[in-house]
Amino acid sequence: MPPSAGGSSRPYADTGRGGGGDDAGREIMARCDALAELTEETGRLTRTFGSAMHRRALELIAEWMEQAGMHTRRDAAGNLIGRYEGNQPGLPALMMGSHQDTVRNGGRYDGMLGIVAPITAVGLLHAAGERLPFAVEVIAFTDEEGVRFGTTLLGSKALTGELDPETLATRDATGISVAEAMREFGAAPERISDAAYPPGTLLGFVETHIEQGPQLERADRPLGVVTAIAGGARLEFRLDGTAGHAGTVPMDQRRDALSGAAEGVLTIEHYCQEAGDVVGTVGHIRAEPGAINVIPGAAVFTADIRAPEDDRRAAAVATIRKRIESIAAARSLECRCRWLYEADGCQCDPHLVRALAAAVYTEGSEPLRLYSGAGHDAMAMSAIAPVAMLFVRCRDGLSHHPDEAITAADADITARVLTRFLREFEPAR
Ligand SMILES: [Zn+2]
Repeated sequence: MPPSAGGSSRPYADTGRGGGGDDAGREIMARCDALAELTEETGRLTRTFGSAMHRRALELIAEWMEQAGMHTRRDAAGNLIGRYEGNQPGLPALMMGSHQDTVRNGGRYDGMLGIVAPITAVGLLHAAGERLPFAVEVIAFTDEEGVRFGTTLLGSKALTGELDPETLATRDATGISVAEAMREFGAAPERISDAAYPPGTLLGFVETHIEQGPQLERADRPLGVVTAIAGGARLEFRLDGTAGHAGTVPMDQRRDALSGAAEGVLTIEHYCQEAGDVVGTVGHIRAEPGAINVIPGAAVFTADIRAPEDDRRAAAVATIRKRIESIAAARSLECRCRWLYEADGCQCDPHLVRALAAAVYTEGSEPLRLYSGAGHDAMAMSAIAPVAMLFVRCRDGLSHHPDEAITAADADITARVLTRFLREFEPAR
């Protein structure tokens, strides 16, 4: 499929593929459109934690939840939770949801789809007068992207009890802390632990999300079931050589740190291309002193390495480090490596994965099993509950971009799959 023409933020149902969609699909599309209107910046979609638009988004979502037969509440972190009681009150809940916030100039489906689609699914049960042997809760997480405070997964970490005083004290660009923003928003940071669900109290957590990659489109399937969310390692390499005059130092007597770094960058790319299940990115590189007529005496570059399995990632990092060290040694450069960040991945719950895949299959599509290279609220939620994710095909694999698009037909099958999944779900014993 050719890249999008750009500039258009119209859902791609209108661009000719799939078309139509049924009522549920149309409802989901219209609601994502309505949420996309609630933006802090004219002409582009930006909605961050604690803003007036965040407040309006929650009011709108709460209205939809109530129409779908749910009682709504806001927790101490500002998450909005709708609860559809089971066939008797107070039963353990299966939770579904995603985040309401966006990146700057984001798209209208990343996050929102995962809130809106399960509300529509619950609405279908409600319209049919069906109650399940468990409760269903739908959550609109307060902040996942971390645009305002630079700290991601605020909402889901509150549910897992991982929002610590340090995070609450983090300040935004204007000096307002997370705790102050929560208070301003009507949440209660001093009671933040009230938002936590003790481990084992939720039957599971299922997040619906656009794929953010091209695999479903390439396979011509509307839906994928995620088997794992990749962990990641971030490192910084520093190579030190000798700075010198670009005109006078002969080529065979140079210790050019940037040339060594260039080889290092390509080594990372080659390794990941061959490995298949590992992705690696060098997103930042810097030469010192950084002048056009000076041989670089030092070069610093980062590496972001991700894999669905932690062992695999560890092995990739170890090999890449060794290769970069030998590149440096061959060029008489000193090599230092610093860890910036590491997070383990999370395996999705096999029982939930099977149940979701079965629902996709029964609704007439072959589910693609894939892993998520991006982090999600489900990753945080795996600390307290079995988790799974349903991925929805998106145009050109695009996300965090105003051209994000799904079709109404795909939204429709998403609603049908979630409804079927809920009807047929049996909690693991
Ligand atoms: Zn997202």
